[in-house]
Amino acid sequence: GRTLKNILVTGGMGFIGCNFIRTLLEKTPEFSGRIVNLDVLTYAGNPASLADIESRFGPGSGSVRYVFEHGDICDRSFVESVFKKYDIDTVAHFAAESHVDRSILGPEAFVKTNVMGTFTLLDIARNFWQARKDTLFHHISTDEVYGSLGETGYFTETTPYDPRSPYSASKASSDHLAMAYHHTYGLPVTLSNCSNNYGPYQFPEKLIPLMILNMLDGKPLPVYGDGKNIRDWVYVEDHNRAVWAIMQKGRAGEKYNIGGENEWENIKLLDALIDITADKSGLDKNKIRGTINYVKDRPGHDRRYAIDCSKIKAELGWKQAATFGQGLERTVDWYLANNGWIKGILSGGYKNWVKQNYEGR
Ligand code: NAD
Repeated sequence: GRTLKNILVTGGMGFIGCNFIRTLLEKTPEFSGRIVNLDVLTYAGNPASLADIESRFGPGSGSVRYVFEHGDICDRSFVESVFKKYDIDTVAHFAAESHVDRSILGPEAFVKTNVMGTFTLLDIARNFWQARKDTLFHHISTDEVYGSLGETGYFTETTPYDPRSPYSASKASSDHLAMAYHHTYGLPVTLSNCSNNYGPYQFPEKLIPLMILNMLDGKPLPVYGDGKNIRDWVYVEDHNRAVWAIMQKGRAGEKYNIGGENEWENIKLLDALIDITADKSGLDKNKIRGTINYVKDRPGHDRRYAIDCSKIKAELGWKQAATFGQGLERTVDWYLANNGWIKGILSGGYKNWVKQNYEGR
């Protein structure tokens, strides 16, 4: 595999990025390099998610393996200075505006960060790395770029792009730019398209943590439309292990699908989640089920996503480690044990936004 030394992780204070940094520093003995976490701290970025990592691996600890740089991926001179200061040889690009509902209400931030931000990073990487061979730009993306499926079929790496929301359109644009930088300028780019992630540290606007926290608070459980939309779910650590496998051994210029091979109708998933959360917290299942509240469907709501990830399995030997049952149990346990983190993230702009968008419907 590649020897990756100075990795720039963008968006490392967000859900998947902070789990990625943890996995690399705590559970990946073959990685002995340094991580620079560049994040502008939008509502979704939470420094509390890495406070312990900062004290164990950050400046002031024995050998510094983790540094946080606060700033915007769209800010060219700032990003350039970070590349220079740390001699960055690898980018793991997670930073994005990531919530579909927000992209419907305010698409501009999505175009700025996801399209212009990705462009800025690619362009700096190309210039900074011009003559170097030991470099890699890994771009993290979503299966939503492929559009929506009917009852059968799967997205493969050759499925034509057909994004339907401002979020997926902005991610699709960024994917095309990443590939174009490989084909046009020879930048060593790898790309992954992953299905829905779940796990610890996920911002409680997304389905699974939203439902867990609403159950614990005795609030209604909002379900879009008829609840029969289907998503594939992958445990965040499995996604990140796949990203790492690609960064080490994936071929430049190739894209890889990542998924859980774990399709669930939203309403059935909620049912399973109610059982686990009620069992662990001593709440009454029937009472919780009575709080399910069907709300007006999201405009342009894709019906089904399902992903074929046989390429990464065959080529890189990756496979999922967590079953859905195990992953959900760990997730519920984590939310039950981390009240401080939850309180911290719920203060701030998020509260008002949730009021407007989930409680007022
Ligand atoms: P998130 O919203 O939890 O975190 C995004 C992070 O990026 C935050 O810390 C935020 O502060 C930071 N950020 C946003 N704009 C920035 C900017 N302009 N400059 C610097 N930092 C900025 O997102 P996530 O769920 O962790 O998703 C990470 C990546 O994975 C995204 O690219 C997303 O498209 C992709 N993805 C997510 C999922 C999922 O289920 N969550 C699935 C597939 C792919």
